[in-house]
Amino acid sequence: MACDCIALLDAKLVEHNTRIKLPLIITPDLPVLPMIETEQVESGMGKKRAIGLFATYCPFCGDKLSEVQR
Ligand SMILES: [Zn+2]
Repeated sequence: MACDCIALLDAKLVEHNTRIKLPLIITPDLPVLPMIETEQVESGMGKKRAIGLFATYCPFCGDKLSEVQR
């Protein structure tokens, strides 16, 4: 992790019962990175489900992120 933005923000957000969403990664080779929330464009039977995207640079300071620890 290149910066402490996520941890610092989590500490400030705790009073609002909120924290930055980090995905649950079950593949050991993949790093834990902040998730960019997406939404499904079309819903209904047979439509593909929305996929998640991950930020590889800190969305707050711009540093490259290798992994986020919580
Ligand atoms: Zn940062």
